[in-house]
Amino acid sequence: MENFVVSARKYRPALFNTVVGQSSITTTLKNAIRSNHLAQAFLFCGPRGVGKTTCARILAKTINCTNLTSETEACNQCESCTSFNQGQAIDIYELDAASNNSVDDIRNLVDTVRIPPQLMESNSNAKKVYVIDEVHMLSAAAFNAFLKTLEEPPRYAIFILATTERHKILPTILSRCQIFNFNRIQVDDIAGHLAYIANNENVIADPDALHIIAQKADGALRDACSIFDQVVSFAGTNLTYKAVIENLNVLDYEYYFKMTDHLLADQIPNAMLVYNDILSNGFDGHTFVAGLAEHFRNLLVSKDPQTLQLLEAGQNIRERYKEQAMHCPPIFLLRGLSLITKCDVGYKSARNPRLLAEFMLMQLCALNGQSSGEKKNDELISTSFNQAPLTQIPTAQPTVSQHASAEKNDEVSTPTPTTSIDTNQVVAEKPAAVVSKEETQNTSSAPSWKKSGVGKINQFTNPTAAKTDDVATSNGQPDLSKPREPFTQQALEQAWKVYAEKVKPTNLNVSSAMSMNQPRKVSDTELVFHVLNAAALDSLTSRKTDIMTHLREHLRNYYFDLRFELNKEEGPKRIYTDQDRYDRLVELNPNLAKFKQQFDLDIY
Ligand SMILES: [Zn+2]
Repeated sequence: MENFVVSARKYRPALFNTVVGQSSITTTLKNAIRSNHLAQAFLFCGPRGVGKTTCARILAKTINCTNLTSETEACNQCESCTSFNQGQAIDIYELDAASNNSVDDIRNLVDTVRIPPQLMESNSNAKKVYVIDEVHMLSAAAFNAFLKTLEEPPRYAIFILATTERHKILPTILSRCQIFNFNRIQVDDIAGHLAYIANNENVIADPDALHIIAQKADGALRDACSIFDQVVSFAGTNLTYKAVIENLNVLDYEYYFKMTDHLLADQIPNAMLVYNDILSNGFDGHTFVAGLAEHFRNLLVSKDPQTLQLLEAGQNIRERYKEQAMHCPPIFLLRGLSLITKCDVGYKSARNPRLLAEFMLMQLCALNGQSSGEKKNDELISTSFNQAPLTQIPTAQPTVSQHASAEKNDEVSTPTPTTSIDTNQVVAEKPAAVVSKEETQNTSSAPSWKKSGVGKINQFTNPTAAKTDDVATSNGQPDLSKPREPFTQQALEQAWKVYAEKVKPTNLNVSSAMSMNQPRKVSDTELVFHVLNAAALDSLTSRKTDIMTHLREHLRNYYFDLRFELNKEEGPKRIYTDQDRYDRLVELNPNLAKFKQQFDLDIY
């Protein structure tokens, strides 16, 4: 038992109105005081540093104030308030159950409950207020000793119990208390409070810097204040973003923005260098991985004005998120998040975590290559269902494409030998980067491409141009529809070959896997490709989306699906018998025959 001592902490809130980020609780408490409906026991639950003890003290002070303001705040002038403010609060007791958790401690406390409050001489409504912090630390015996008092307290006694671990409180106690749940304090609220402190301390603080501190504090105002003090003592009265980053050893947003730019542009070397930079600056790779996930998440919520409020960042950084988010196809963010999460989960158990992270970065790079095709479909869908985005996409998209690598542009523009005449006329002055967007508009009727402000290119990448030409013009449907043109096995094989050639420089595995065989048109809606081995199946599956996109664009038909099948699963209908397959393999690698002969192997 010890006398309650007012905290000397300079900016500890002393009134309900100044409590940060718990307005619903303070309002309820004030209403209870005003209407004289105070419970006799309160339980304040919530994480550390969010204002439980502060609120308990303010409540205690306010209850005994004889001259409440019109806003139900303590007056700071009456006898009770002055003694409270001087740190000699009469009739307010605080027990820290973390260090005083024995039966005896509780008995001492219970003994004092019997004595009426001193203030009662001058104020018949005076209360004795007991604040028990960390109440979950009380031993079971202490709990039981306390229970009786809590069941039948004298009318002048009020108990305020505070805990970070509500589940450890006995139900018999819970049922006797009015329970208040304190939430983690929002980053914005903390940053606002820090700005207030900075202002009073004549510290010039960059709002972004304060946001970093607030984030680091993870919802605890007390932590935020001590971090603030720490950084100010280090950086002086000019609190810049950079100073905070350095002092707190926080991974700069800058890294993530840079990294994401590289990922979007499919620049594996640059991405690896940034990662190396991060490591050599002493940051933990795992921190980076987790931070990157957070970054992607932030980009995702920045894509929509509705979810933008979920972004906890300062104004400048918010703008940067908005800007970068415009360049990120949703599919890139979603799949990216899934890749990063996978890396995050496996990081601790990986034998070579650095390699794992680097591999993730490479996959992320490849992602945008892959998703570029899909992105077009996404746009197509969004323009199909909602006309409004049409006006937005053109402003956002060109930047996407600029950020996308040269390689991606190549993907679009290389397989165009058959179409150069057509396109040159229309897009002579357009950067190649815009092409991907225009492809999206391929299927649109004239008005829609006019609206989007780009030239129309028909059959841009289409090897069967002659045929599709009339279809495209006779296709008088609204721009919602995707083309569904008939195609031949021959056209399919041709389109297949174009793709295999196209990826050859960048992905030899896929290219050779594709060259091993021909796709087969099973029906109008179904293509099958028989794969010769599991490795080929893997590389093809990983590129399936991209291959599909390519085929669909080339064949001008969006209504088929493509299956990869391992040959051995095929059964009697397969194209290749085992012997065929062997022959084919020998064709590709004559050493196989020698191998077979040398080891006297059979085809199995
Ligand atoms: Zn007062």
